[in-house]
Amino acid sequence: MIQRAYLDNNATTPTDLRVVDEMLPYFSEQFGNASSRNHAYGWEAKEAVDHAREQVSDLIGANPSEIIFTSGATESNNLALKGLLNEGDHFITCATEHKAILDPAESLAAKGIDVEILPAQSDGSLEINAFKNVISDHTRLVSIMMANNETGCIQPIKELSTITHSNQTLFHTDATQAVGKVPVDVNELGIDLMSFSSHKMYGPKGIGALYIRKGSKVKPLIEGGGHERGVRSGTLNVPAIVGFGKACELCKQEMREEGSRIKILRDKLEQSLLSIDDAQLNGGIESRLPNVTNIAFSGVDGERLLLSLNGLAVSQGSACTSAVVEPSHVLKAMGIPDQLANSSLRFSLGRFTTKEEIDFAIQKVTAAVHKLRT
Ligand code: PMP
Repeated sequence: MIQRAYLDNNATTPTDLRVVDEMLPYFSEQFGNASSRNHAYGWEAKEAVDHAREQVSDLIGANPSEIIFTSGATESNNLALKGLLNEGDHFITCATEHKAILDPAESLAAKGIDVEILPAQSDGSLEINAFKNVISDHTRLVSIMMANNETGCIQPIKELSTITHSNQTLFHTDATQAVGKVPVDVNELGIDLMSFSSHKMYGPKGIGALYIRKGSKVKPLIEGGGHERGVRSGTLNVPAIVGFGKACELCKQEMREEGSRIKILRDKLEQSLLSIDDAQLNGGIESRLPNVTNIAFSGVDGERLLLSLNGLAVSQGSACTSAVVEPSHVLKAMGIPDQLANSSLRFSLGRFTTKEEIDFAIQKVTAAVHKLRT
């Protein structure tokens, strides 16, 4: 019998050992600076970065020159929003976005940007008519996440980008939870800018990318040397970039088969947990990621539930806000009452999730909910 299980893959994933193998030589053997132009150490590093850029762009149907390496999706989101928006610009986003969009949006609002945060529907998706009513040719940027980190809800990106473009506006998406899990093609989906991150797809932490469609001009957040098309400066983290590239290659090869396998496990977990009295699913089932389920256990305090799940790693809301015990802003935005939101847990499966872990989770959660209710 196993003693612990990890069902928090939307917070972060383990680095695939095939990725680690690929990274290792770039720490102490091929350690050159990719910007050193005068010797082989630099050329080798540059070659590795170029190869990784191809692997990353290949996963999302982009051109390698359209990939800007960043420290992760938080930086990519900040770069997209702050690099494009100026005082007086109109910006549209949604209330279910990650804090890595909502926080920069708030600070931009304080600097005179006209920020419009649209509500979500009960299934987590944006209400298209509300969106059509507020967008105009004064809107400079729209940012709607591809897949929600808490519920897995996938937004109708193609439809949203088409409406956005008919207003001569740019469309950004935070696709951190989607890339590597479901097929994403920036051209098919009409995406102008897209943030994503390596550590959500079995690559190392601290590396991510902003896709910027050719032709869009983004101001840098930090300056000093002007690497990455002048959009992002600083010495490139070659081992991490190599790892990110390999992680993208593996996702491209394995995503389809992996998604079906994970979905079977997720559905089993979900059905078993929903058979507990008064348990209910948060969000819709029509359009969502295959690896996540978010369930409310009415009458049970989520915080206490988490503490009684010895050995089971799951989360309440997103990891990034879990230092503060308050109802998830995502669930609230979907109209879920505070008490029910506070009774909710997110279970997120991944590449290395086993059937034993699912059985362990079902047993732990069922027992803990019954115990806390009596
Ligand atoms: N956006 C979303 C939707 C996320 O789930 C996360 C990670 N919690 C981020 C942004 C931030 O990503 P990173 O850790 O790479 O900064």
